[in-house]
Amino acid sequence: MSNLKVLIIGAGLGGLTLAQSLRRAGIDFAVFERDRSPFDRPQGYRLHLDEDGINSAREVLSPELRALFEATSQRTEPFTTILGTDLSILKQIHADTQDGRGVWPTHDGPPEHANVDRATLRQILLAGLEERVHFGKVLDRYEQADHGVVAHFADGSIAKGHVLVGADGIRSAVRRQREPGCDTVDAGITAIYGRVPIEAVTAIVPKETLNDIFAITSDERKVFLGMGSVRFPIEPSTAARKLAPGTSMRRQDDYVACIVGGRHEFFPNNLHGAEGEALQRVAAETIGAWPDGAASLVRAGDPSAFFRVEMYTSVPCSLDEPTNVTLLGDAIHAMTPTLGRGANVAMRDGALLGRALKKVAADEAMLADALAEYERQMLDYGFAAVREAARIGQERMAQNSLRD
Ligand SMILES: Cc1cc2nc3c(=O)[nH]c(=O)nc-3n(C[C@H](O)[C@H](O)[C@H](O)COP(=O)(O)OP(=O)(O)OC[C@H]3O[C@@H](n4cnc5c(N)ncnc54)[C@H](O)[C@@H]3O)c2cc1C
Repeated sequence: MSNLKVLIIGAGLGGLTLAQSLRRAGIDFAVFERDRSPFDRPQGYRLHLDEDGINSAREVLSPELRALFEATSQRTEPFTTILGTDLSILKQIHADTQDGRGVWPTHDGPPEHANVDRATLRQILLAGLEERVHFGKVLDRYEQADHGVVAHFADGSIAKGHVLVGADGIRSAVRRQREPGCDTVDAGITAIYGRVPIEAVTAIVPKETLNDIFAITSDERKVFLGMGSVRFPIEPSTAARKLAPGTSMRRQDDYVACIVGGRHEFFPNNLHGAEGEALQRVAAETIGAWPDGAASLVRAGDPSAFFRVEMYTSVPCSLDEPTNVTLLGDAIHAMTPTLGRGANVAMRDGALLGRALKKVAADEAMLADALAEYERQMLDYGFAAVREAARIGQERMAQNSLRD
């Protein structure tokens, strides 16, 4: 199908990885994103990338954007540091022993890990796609049509293509229609995220912890404080000027993302609508009985940067045979963030589906087989990660079991 046209619903990390892959392969596509702009709402700060995310980015990005990605990624040691509530170092856990792995190694060297800034990564993945990403388009439903699929948007507009990809996140409208039996459940956890200038953190926490992927401490309630640094090897807007002129990149300073979380019952139940400074205060109070350092670290954060997340997780399920509508990322296998794997797996899906669609572009008879093989692999590693994230989540933060 040399004129293959792919409709991608959702411009998150998974959908954009697929878009970059199709762009490089010369396959026609359009991306439809609900938000009005890439910076509409807080989506988190630091992301841990393992080889799934790193290799997917390397595979789909142009040489200039790949250089920009490498230049703005902080390489970390492969450890999570476990701290006491007084923020002293208790032990380090090697990433390979903790998450069961199953990542996508493409070389024989030791596994790589990076901490990246989510907004910077998203800007890199958006670069060059400006004409093809349509913001402010909310998918309502799709319908099968002769030789293709029609997407219907909330504003009454439609788009036609041969294949439709639901990359529309945890509350996916595409999943609801394609596989209503596949659902998500409350993991039982509330979390408040914020960001703290790096100098404020290094004055409080042993600075070697900031070379690791993540540092975490928790108490007998399993209420936890987690910290992950982002230290840019080159400041992103400077890196863009040098390595990928024409790419628009916001200025960013080094920081530490912090998260205070635990079971819903340890947080006030009137947090709906609370933002910024009010959430910062709640986060500090929730760990207020710990030795001083932890709460003062939260108080050192930027008050406007705090936001709240109620964690949900997918429940592993099976998909009927694909036709010309498929899913990727959180739309099908959302997981709690205990392994720092959700974005990695979404990006791996994007790269893998890009490979499958290249086969379809070369030979339209491959459509059913190529999508079936993509879904078989994606469900296998995706749900393995969901189960492992839930297992670790139960151990570390009293997450509901997937069967609750
Ligand atoms: C605070 C936080 C920290 C995290 N840390 C990590 C980490 O360190 N490492 C890691 O690997 N993962 C992490 N994750 C998980 C990771 O963010 C997700 O797994 C990842 O973003 C999934 O990517 P996605 O493209 O599938 O979905 P999303 O990034 O959710 O993108 C989906 C997109 O679809 C759009 N959309 C939704 N509905 C519609 C519609 N009807 N029509 C059109 N568009 C629609 C949304 O606006 C959104 O832009 C974290 C998550 C959170 C919340």
